[in-house]
Amino acid sequence: MQSISPEIIFRGNDAWKEALPQITKLSKRPLILGRSIHTNNLRNKINKDLKDQNLYVNSSNLEFDCCLEDLSRIKNIIQRNKCDSIIAAGGGKVLDAGKYLADSPFLPCITVPLSASTCAGWTALSNIYTINGQFIKDVTLRSCPKILVFDHTFIQTAPIRTLASGIADALAKWYESSLTSSKMEDGLVQQAIQISRVLRDQLLIDGEKAFKTQAAKGLSWQNTIEACGLTAGLIGGIGGEKCRTAAAHALHNAITQIISTPKFLHGEIVGVGILFQLKLEELKNNNKLANQSRKQLLVLMKELNLPTTISELGINVFENNNLEKIAEFTLRDDSEIHFLPFEINQKDIVEIITNLEKKEIIIK
Ligand SMILES: [Zn+2]
Repeated sequence: MQSISPEIIFRGNDAWKEALPQITKLSKRPLILGRSIHTNNLRNKINKDLKDQNLYVNSSNLEFDCCLEDLSRIKNIIQRNKCDSIIAAGGGKVLDAGKYLADSPFLPCITVPLSASTCAGWTALSNIYTINGQFIKDVTLRSCPKILVFDHTFIQTAPIRTLASGIADALAKWYESSLTSSKMEDGLVQQAIQISRVLRDQLLIDGEKAFKTQAAKGLSWQNTIEACGLTAGLIGGIGGEKCRTAAAHALHNAITQIISTPKFLHGEIVGVGILFQLKLEELKNNNKLANQSRKQLLVLMKELNLPTTISELGINVFENNNLEKIAEFTLRDDSEIHFLPFEINQKDIVEIITNLEKKEIIIK
């Protein structure tokens, strides 16, 4: 079974207002889920609007992450208050947590992304982390959200850094799926890969302008936030499991094992992962175009103030066996790295990261 998209999508400047009657029809006792204090005002507005419709509203925030501790605490709140829907309003972690919580008693989930940082508002997938933000696993859910509310006015209030992060995560769709799945014969997978190429082109054309003109909410900005929050989700929906992630997300997952503070956003780490993957393709798969792609991407990433090396993520790979830890986690049995169409080993990863971090170490 494959869940391709949310049942109903509201998009544009008045998306929340337009969604309100639909939500009221669906639910009488919603739980509003959030996390960051920076988005409290928006959740307060959502709360007030729902109460004005005579709904019995509960709310709760993730204390740490989309982690089992927070999830089981909130599950109790849902049961105690007999909530009949979950409205996840926030970034990727909140959206993932809301979808995960709704999946098990099969409550309707309404996702309200408050930034364009990921496509988590769309997909039938949740990433589970530890309380410290270390990646544990991804969980495939029974369905995409019931309603996705992609309100441009809400998203405009997000820090611009979240848009840059969303662009990097959306770009990864092309670099990863074209590498792992281009030989698959499934027509839908092929079409998903082609959409991810068009998405990449659009982000290369519009991404920088969007980043610099959020205040004006122009066409480039609108196209870019929808590319990151909607189209990237559609690609995951159509491509499904076969349209795999690859080395960029595998490296992301490994890096989260080491990062504690300061926190970096998902796409900021994935961006570094794409550059790593392209270097891998160049050196281990003899892909001569990969070097060209890496240079092209570096220009955009600099313009978007995105980190381009692991050291810019606050990690010195040459300390505390960090390099070995990253290589080991990247290569663990259930890692996405094994979807690559060529073999790599620990020595390759160490060599490539060393090369990218522009330092020399003695490879044992
Ligand atoms: Zn991602």
